[in-house]
Amino acid sequence: MVISTEPRILALDFDGVICDGLLEYFQTTKLTYIQVWTEHSLDFLDNFSHSFYRLRSVIETGWEMPILLRALVLGFDQNQMQDDWSNLCQKIIKLDNLNKQTLITKLDEVRDNWINSDLESWLKLHRFYPGVIEKIGKVTSSSTLLYIVTTKEGRFVQQLLGKEGVELPKKNILGKEIRQQKHEILRELILKNSQCSSQLWFVEDLLKTLCKVQEQSDLKKVKLFLANWGFNTSKNHNLAKSNSGIHVLSLEQFNDNYLSWLS
Ligand SMILES: [Mg+2]
Repeated sequence: MVISTEPRILALDFDGVICDGLLEYFQTTKLTYIQVWTEHSLDFLDNFSHSFYRLRSVIETGWEMPILLRALVLGFDQNQMQDDWSNLCQKIIKLDNLNKQTLITKLDEVRDNWINSDLESWLKLHRFYPGVIEKIGKVTSSSTLLYIVTTKEGRFVQQLLGKEGVELPKKNILGKEIRQQKHEILRELILKNSQCSSQLWFVEDLLKTLCKVQEQSDLKKVKLFLANWGFNTSKNHNLAKSNSGIHVLSLEQFNDNYLSWLS
């Protein structure tokens, strides 16, 4: 049997794998926060930026970000936030009588307004992890097909990469506008490129998303990698390590050759 040591298709998540959006997360969170809780100023909320950056990994989806900031403002124990975020999050939702859908809508509105009024300043808050731009350059000039599979809108991904000199065609960026779950997108990539599932390697920082791929009977052979430099916790790393179908990948390995990804 030939063991393939390089993927025919490489699918990469964007936020938390390629791009570090922490600064943007905090700014968008603050602007949303002051709409939900009106007693604090933006300047006051800035006091919590470093704790927010440190704890951002405990949450899985964007709408929880204002609640994370709320937990910091209310002075909840940061160890508890680290260890038991989902219960604490539920507690604050009840305490402040919040509605998940309202938070999602408000956060999206804040972001949309910002993008529409000052796209440049919004783009500027995104940084790239060390070495990834060079790595993407290497992949695009190899025989591996590169796709970015993200919940960000594709046009922003294209603009952010373009600023770094990476010109990726639209068809290689599958973003929010596709309105499909990541495992569905991966399935289509395999079909479209007439490949077997073992030829696709997928790097993602959200463990839940990798597990969802793993649940699909036709995608069992997709090689899955958890990017440990992204938005996830050591608890996630340990869970992934105990899952034989998922490789935990460091940024150093990612920037190295494919053999080291599997070591
Ligand atoms: Mg991500």
